[in-house]
Amino acid sequence: MPLIRRVSNFIFGSSCLGCGLFTEKLDPWLCPNCREELVSLGKEPYYPQEDVVCLYSMNPLTRRLVHALKYHHMPGLASYLVKQSAACRGKEVFLWFDLLKKPFLLIPIPLHSSRFRERGYNQTDKIAYALANQIEGSVFHGVSRRSFSGSQTKLSVEDRKCNVAGVFQLKKKIPKGSSTCIIIDDVYTTGATTKACSYALLQEKRVDVKVCTLLFEKQVSATLDLVADHVVEWD
Ligand SMILES: [Zn+2]
Repeated sequence: MPLIRRVSNFIFGSSCLGCGLFTEKLDPWLCPNCREELVSLGKEPYYPQEDVVCLYSMNPLTRRLVHALKYHHMPGLASYLVKQSAACRGKEVFLWFDLLKKPFLLIPIPLHSSRFRERGYNQTDKIAYALANQIEGSVFHGVSRRSFSGSQTKLSVEDRKCNVAGVFQLKKKIPKGSSTCIIIDDVYTTGATTKACSYALLQEKRVDVKVCTLLFEKQVSATLDLVADHVVEWD
């Protein structure tokens, strides 16, 4: 995809995904100023909890890029964002990974099947493969998202919150020899989604479970996060 974008930029010119500036100096997504801003944001990964690292904090630029990754059919942005982060350019995130027991198994949060059909790809897969290349891990598609019956959609938000732990299930055995499972998601807010996925993985007690996401967004409210993550998907 970046190659196509590069060719298209060369022929037609294009605008920066960050600031909208029309320029021939795209890399191929951002102008030099926006790229500099992104690299600088990536130098300060955020650790909302001991077991969680977010490669960037949410700001207008990172929000726009992740939105484009998810909704504007730009899967190449996943690899771009991983490569511009400190996970590839700096030392701090590498140190976080270095302290974990190897080998790593990277587990992308599965997308609801209807979303996958609509989008054509799972953005968390793209993030996982890009990161796996950098930290020498392998990607494991062993977790599935449960489908709920119609009756589930009639539950109140509070009832759904109680059931959140059952959203994911382990459908394959974790490969022998794996030491650390790293759950991969795009955005971390309350951690409701990744906690639900951890719950499924911790059925196998011999592995450590950590979380890595592209972005951290300040929690507006746990309920809003849950609604954003699950209610639409269950309907
Ligand atoms: Zn720009």
